[in-house]
Amino acid sequence: MNETFVRLLCPGCQKTWERKPNELPAHTEQFGCDSCATERRTAEFTRTDHDLDVLKQFQ
Ligand SMILES: [Zn+2]
Repeated sequence: MNETFVRLLCPGCQKTWERKPNELPAHTEQFGCDSCATERRTAEFTRTDHDLDVLKQFQ
C-alpha cells in the first residue's frame, strides 16, 4: 500500500503533525486544530505548497 501523508502546521499554536489526505476536509473547508481549537481553511494548515498539492490531488 502506498501511504501518502499531508504535513500540517497549525497557524495558531505552531503544532506540526501529519494526516492522510482522505482523513482531512477539502482544502476550502474549515478544519480545527486538536490542540488549540484554531479554525481555518484546511489549506492554511498545510505546511508547504507541496503538501497542499498532495491534499488537492487526493480529494
Ligand atoms: Zn493549534
